[in-house]
Amino acid sequence: MKIEFLGSGGAITTPQPGCRCRVCVEARQRGAPYSRTGPSVFVHGPDLLIDTPEEIKFQLNRAGLGFIPACTYSHWHPDHVMGRRVWEMNKDWRGWPPRDRQSDIYLPQQVAADFRERLGSWENFEFLAAQNLVRMHVLQDGEAFTLGKTRILPVRLAADYVYAFLLEEEGKRVLIAPDELVGWDPPQTVRGLDLAVLPMGVPEFDPFTGARMVPAEHPVLQVEATWAGTLEIARKLQAKRVIMTHIEEPFGLSHDDLQRLGAKLQADGFNIDFAFDTLQVEA
Ligand SMILES: [Zn+2]
Ligand SMILES: [Zn+2]
Repeated sequence: MKIEFLGSGGAITTPQPGCRCRVCVEARQRGAPYSRTGPSVFVHGPDLLIDTPEEIKFQLNRAGLGFIPACTYSHWHPDHVMGRRVWEMNKDWRGWPPRDRQSDIYLPQQVAADFRERLGSWENFEFLAAQNLVRMHVLQDGEAFTLGKTRILPVRLAADYVYAFLLEEEGKRVLIAPDELVGWDPPQTVRGLDLAVLPMGVPEFDPFTGARMVPAEHPVLQVEATWAGTLEIARKLQAKRVIMTHIEEPFGLSHDDLQRLGAKLQADGFNIDFAFDTLQVEA
């Protein structure tokens, strides 16, 4: 299995239009890996896409990827779904009779329920399915699906509208959690991994100096996992390697800052790195 980070940003991508902070200025000048597009991961092998942010068409072109046979969605939030028009790429506009293609879309139970209520996602997918461009599969909690040699199990998190995915292939075990780890105590069934991909969480304190970065009363600290909380989850997962992603622009950390933090963590004995757009990792 090879994990390719199509987008390593979060809901607030880098650079933000109009922002003159040093991280955005550098990202605007230098592009990837300093810029970060919305959260999306492609797993080579099972050829599974996880989530479609607005930039997904750009991301697929950049990665040299074409037809995507299968995709799953972690939750209904806009930063993870708003590129769903990408599936119109399955339409054959030139040929007659047209040779349309179909992608299999796997929706965990609560994601399917939320798609019916939020952002018009279900209606959009019904439209795509009626044109025979996607096939929809709703998975009950605890139900896995298999692509080639890989078994994929959606794992519902403590923020119970969100799922991580446990991928197992020939003895290798990989957990990909695109977002929202707040309050999660990983069950035994997902511990002992070859690789864990986790959202880095809000750096409440500067990871180098320890200075407070987010005011203690800020409501974000109630609803989002912190960087310290995410490190604790990473420790419990007992993964041989951890890659942190979903890196938000307001965190104020540049690509170079995060590479430096990764080196510090490695020196401290933690096998933790930070994702950037285009990063590929073998598991
Ligand atoms: Zn997100
Ligand atoms: Zn900025």
